[in-house]
Amino acid sequence: MKIHEYQARQILKDSGVPVPDAIACDTPSAVADAFNQLQQNGASIAVVKAQVHAGGRGKGGGVKLVKSADDAQQAAETMMSKNLVTHQTGPEGVPVNKVLVAAGVEIDKEFYLSITLDRATSRPVMIASAEGGVDIETVAAETPEKIIRRHIHPLMGLQGHEARSVAFKLGFVGKQVSQAAAIMMKLARLFVAKDADMVEINPLITTKPSENFPDGQVMAIDSKVTFDNNALFRHKDIQALFDPAEEDPAELEANKFGLSYIKLDGTIGCLVNGAGLAMSTMDIIKLHGGEPANFLDVGGSASEEAIAEAFKIILSDPNVKGVLVNIFGGIMQCDKIARGIVGAAKTIGFKVPLVVRLEGTNVEPAREIIEAAKTDIPVMQVATDLTDAAQKITAAVN
Ligand code: GDP
Ligand code: MG
Repeated sequence: MKIHEYQARQILKDSGVPVPDAIACDTPSAVADAFNQLQQNGASIAVVKAQVHAGGRGKGGGVKLVKSADDAQQAAETMMSKNLVTHQTGPEGVPVNKVLVAAGVEIDKEFYLSITLDRATSRPVMIASAEGGVDIETVAAETPEKIIRRHIHPLMGLQGHEARSVAFKLGFVGKQVSQAAAIMMKLARLFVAKDADMVEINPLITTKPSENFPDGQVMAIDSKVTFDNNALFRHKDIQALFDPAEEDPAELEANKFGLSYIKLDGTIGCLVNGAGLAMSTMDIIKLHGGEPANFLDVGGSASEEAIAEAFKIILSDPNVKGVLVNIFGGIMQCDKIARGIVGAAKTIGFKVPLVVRLEGTNVEPAREIIEAAKTDIPVMQVATDLTDAAQKITAAVN
């Protein structure tokens, strides 16, 4: 599960990581008030930041340094009036429903710091670089030697001497070293305690020297945290951070019925049971020159209602030019799917070609139901196996 920057900053703050004050706002006028409030607390400049579940905002116009309440409001108006396009959003971009107004800091240097799970070693790994800021992907691709990786012992956690050695390697000096090391250790504990997939600070910065921090202060000014969905059940506080506005409405609707649905760009809608069979169905469609319009796993025990819902979701996608039903009945009974098809034909109606391939539990009664429905559903063809199904649907769509 993804969360917004303003939520991630709060989690960092709660863990004791220094983060500049910030206020999340839903409207441009609230942004002006927020600027004034930050100014009263001592900030002279602020940063208005689009809150979307995508990175690369700096380069896409989603991060703006402002010096007055009017500028702040203006920046928020511009950001919220159109979709934000970054290299992570796709060309159509994403709407901006919230912006964060953060107290601006004077940056001396930008670093990159994150912790994620290294599946190859089954351990958390801390990734750090002195080349922080907006373009860590380029650093990783072009100068991988500038990226430091330190695996973390799953039981002992990140040790103080390990954190300090990374801080030295990054080039922190004087009192910055212990500040940076403390942040790393807090991040490592947070990663485990919250069952995160990834915690990232980009950039981690040093400020210019000040009275309280003669060597400069090490702070997080941007953060991204994602969580392991399989562990969300034990984190009610994190579940509450879920923002449905950032999700695809069809995918949300599907989740309500226990369906795993992911929209894709192609034209062939797929209704399949089991993630493995769904993946092979998509592969074989591609092998025969088609493009899947979605991934849809109805699961092992979907109700007829859920199946009707699955058809509704697939057919509501205007790109869908044909539908392939591919079911291997194990726990799922094929006759249930067959009745689901007949029901969907009555309630929604199939206007695009439909190819049905059923195999497994209760396939005989299912075939009888399909056979009897053929005249009522003239767009339907029956396939004998996976190849036959893929050939029939790609031919029908092309
Ligand atoms: P991202 O592009 O979505 O990762 O957004 P960031 O929050 O990382 O901001 C992008 C860049 O804006 C940072 O790397 C900084 O260079 C700059 N920036 C963000 N906040 C501040 C700030 O408070 N002061 C200054 N001077 N620059 C900032
Ligand atoms: Mg960033």
